[in-house]
Amino acid sequence: MWRRLGMVSTGVGLILTGCATTQRTDDLVRPDTTEVSGKTHRRFEIGRSVEGTTLVMDVFGTGSERLLIFGGIHGNEPTSATVAHDLIDYLAANPEAYLGRRVGVIPEVNPDGLARGTRSNVRGVDLNRNFPAENWKRSAGSANRHGERPASEPETRALLRAIEYLQPERIVSIHSIGRGRHCNNFDGPARYWAELMAEQNGYVVAESMGYPTPGSFGSWAGVDRLIPTITLELPRELDAETTWQENRTALLAFICNGFAD
Ligand SMILES: [Zn+2]
Repeated sequence: MWRRLGMVSTGVGLILTGCATTQRTDDLVRPDTTEVSGKTHRRFEIGRSVEGTTLVMDVFGTGSERLLIFGGIHGNEPTSATVAHDLIDYLAANPEAYLGRRVGVIPEVNPDGLARGTRSNVRGVDLNRNFPAENWKRSAGSANRHGERPASEPETRALLRAIEYLQPERIVSIHSIGRGRHCNNFDGPARYWAELMAEQNGYVVAESMGYPTPGSFGSWAGVDRLIPTITLELPRELDAETTWQENRTALLAFICNGFAD
């Protein structure tokens, strides 16, 4: 099921191993020299999109505190993906930022939608309504915008597999929205984390988006499973570089539970 795409060395004297070999995820925790430093960067294939694009998760560190940050689940929200890519670049260059942690970053959950600039995947399904949450329901009409059933889409299943492996204890799902509505939205017991991020990015803390979101990731992870889940809604009009600069310390604070720079 899992394909290890390779290990990127960020420490001293590490060996690039396991390129493109399918292996079980529990091999990841095998002790080796990289475990000693805790500064590891591994990249995994977690699934394929409808069109066969590889979905990738970068995992930094081997610490016991595990968290996940993902973007690009809505293809018409490109900065949600660029911020996640920027975070990957930052963590690769600054391993001290994740010491003691195990941080998974999935920059593009919906690569087909990102390529087209569409919110949904190529089957017209809004992936953020396709999670097997207790509140999942079929969309009105024949368009199947929520999927034929919960987790009907390969991109949804890839994210679920990544979570099953990583077992994150807190999660950030990155989105974007029209300016004025941007916020640190949260589901589950995540107010602390939303406020921590708000101190850094200056966005308001919002407990509800003000509209029902059946089958959303936040419903599945935050409400049903009580995993603290932040839905970071970036201001859509902001360019990629400014968005990253505005949110860098918020994401680092989420990772290290405090200010980091
Ligand atoms: Zn969105």
